[in-house]
Amino acid sequence: MADCIFCRIVAKQIPAKVVHEDADVIAFEDLNPQAPTHVLVIPRKHVPTLNDLVEEDEALLGKLHRAGAAIAKARGFAGSGWRAVMNVNRDAGQTVFHVHLHVLGGKPMGWPPFPAA
Ligand code: 5GP
Ligand code: ZN
Repeated sequence: MADCIFCRIVAKQIPAKVVHEDADVIAFEDLNPQAPTHVLVIPRKHVPTLNDLVEEDEALLGKLHRAGAAIAKARGFAGSGWRAVMNVNRDAGQTVFHVHLHVLGGKPMGWPPFPAA
């Protein structure tokens, strides 16, 4: 999709600090990191949200998570812990409508991810 910022990163039309890429996925540093490591892992294929997944995308989702785990291992916090986040639509705070896995790690995190009511 021409107007999708992550498709433009896939196409190398805008720069990103790429940390991993293969035939199906690409991983790059988040522009506005929320943890010592904050990497986004995305499919090359444009899928707007998890709501739009079709059966043929099932393996792709596994690849996103395996890439996230490989990044966590390479950076030394696979054992101590990390978080995999995929925001979906408005209430979750999704701002870029090309599926992406946030890989957050390098310091302890809180839970739940929303203020007490
Ligand atoms: P969302 O809120 O959709 O789950 O996450 C979007 C993420 O993409 C945010 O963490 C934001 O900082 C990051 N982001 C938005 N635009 C760019 C960009 O052009 N380059 C990079 N590297 N990250 C971006
Ligand atoms: Zn896209």
